[in-house]
Amino acid sequence: MAAVEFDVAIVGGGPSGLMAAIAASEQGARVLLIEKGGKLGRKLGISGGGRCNVTNAKPLPELMQNIPGNGRFLHSALARFANSEIMAYFEGLGIRLKEEDRGRVFPVSDKAQTVVQALVDDIHRRGVTVWRETPVRSLLADAGRATGLELGDGQRIAARAVVIAAGGCSVPQTGSTGDAYPWAQSVGHAIVPPYPTEVPLTSDEPFIAGRALQGLALRGVSVTVLNGSGRRLTVEHGDLLFTHFGLSGPVALRCSHYVSTERRKHPDAQLTALVDCLPDIAADDFIRTLEDSRKRDPRKQLATVLAAWLPERLATLALAQTGVDGTAQMANASTAALVGVARWSKSFPVRLTGTLPLAQATVTGGGVSVKEIDPRTMGSKLCAGLYFCGEVMDVHAHTGGYNITVAFSTGHLAGESAAAYAREPRERDVATSP
Ligand SMILES: Cc1cc2nc3c(=O)[nH]c(=O)nc-3n(C[C@H](O)[C@H](O)[C@H](O)COP(=O)(O)OP(=O)(O)OC[C@H]3O[C@@H](n4cnc5c(N)ncnc54)[C@H](O)[C@@H]3O)c2cc1C
Repeated sequence: MAAVEFDVAIVGGGPSGLMAAIAASEQGARVLLIEKGGKLGRKLGISGGGRCNVTNAKPLPELMQNIPGNGRFLHSALARFANSEIMAYFEGLGIRLKEEDRGRVFPVSDKAQTVVQALVDDIHRRGVTVWRETPVRSLLADAGRATGLELGDGQRIAARAVVIAAGGCSVPQTGSTGDAYPWAQSVGHAIVPPYPTEVPLTSDEPFIAGRALQGLALRGVSVTVLNGSGRRLTVEHGDLLFTHFGLSGPVALRCSHYVSTERRKHPDAQLTALVDCLPDIAADDFIRTLEDSRKRDPRKQLATVLAAWLPERLATLALAQTGVDGTAQMANASTAALVGVARWSKSFPVRLTGTLPLAQATVTGGGVSVKEIDPRTMGSKLCAGLYFCGEVMDVHAHTGGYNITVAFSTGHLAGESAAAYAREPRERDVATSP
């Protein structure tokens, strides 16, 4: 073992690793932060459309509802360091924050770099040793205890505690390439196979392939995802975008966790998204409204009436899919035709084939199983002195600042716990938490 020794060695300079370094150094630990890329916080720098969606201001119970991937595992971490603490931390550094729609919090500067630089300055101020362009090759452990890390060039670093904050494996050009899964496996951890989440949905519908709706955006719609047997998997609300491969936009991303999860269980499942294009009016009220306009404007074409409710391209598709002649005058439109068009608008079916691949996903589902991580410390239940935080774990949230909140919150707890462990007598044996 080389002479270099630290209390806490952290792998990964994303939001979870940076916050772990801050929390560990706050406890007086000698901290080493190792990042294989040339820059710290690369993914953080492109989050929230390059403005860094630093957290979400919603009350904790609502925040938890936006963490579909093992949210309950995060109770202790969020109780200790949640959105309000994250905001207080940045404001304490002089970074002014603002809250936008759906609770999303951004720096007033609208620049992710403001946030990344504040974190980098803070770790330097705290005396954290930072090694960039330094890939870690493996985790060193002995007799059920983490002892350090081996670097890509073969150098061995001794540390009393190790924090793995190496991220998932989506958008790998940011450095998150799934390197840490084999390290966790080397000490007995199970890995839930990674899968794409917060990712656009794919469809083989002819109108998608034919690009009939490509580029069309629908504001504030509801999307219900049904499994192969027609059971409802989720209902999500938000903006939807039609693309040349399927569905994108915030509401499609929110549905993707359920689509990915179902497809993993049943790879050939025929899933369907039902798009409620008019969520503000009940189906029966819409039918009555169309019947009223038949009385009021008997000479108007059905297509013209429908175009007051739906974008033209969508109205055209509605008429085509329901087999209704849009050129017919309202006076000649049957009640069955009006009911058909109204029901379609409230429940427009889009067959789903899956999602775009993991490399294009905003977030990685799966990772180090949380069953073998103590939620009170983020410590491994299998290897003493080993801690995990952020997206490397089988934890994921919706976009909107929730993943970054998870990264900061678990990073803070892991850093604090690792520093506390490092202070304990060295003779301490394997800690198998209950
Ligand atoms: C385009 C985009 C937009 C996003 N927008 C949002 C958003 O609006 N809201 C939201 O909540 N979330 C968003 N996210 C997700 C969020 O950015 C991530 O969940 C978060 O960055 C995860 O933090 P992390 O610290 O766990 O991992 P990462 O940020 O992935 O950091 C891991 C770090 O570990 C380093 N590393 C990996 N392997 C090694 C190794 N072998 N040796 C040394 N270093 C290593 C990597 O280089 C990387 O820097 C977005 C993601 C993307 C890609």
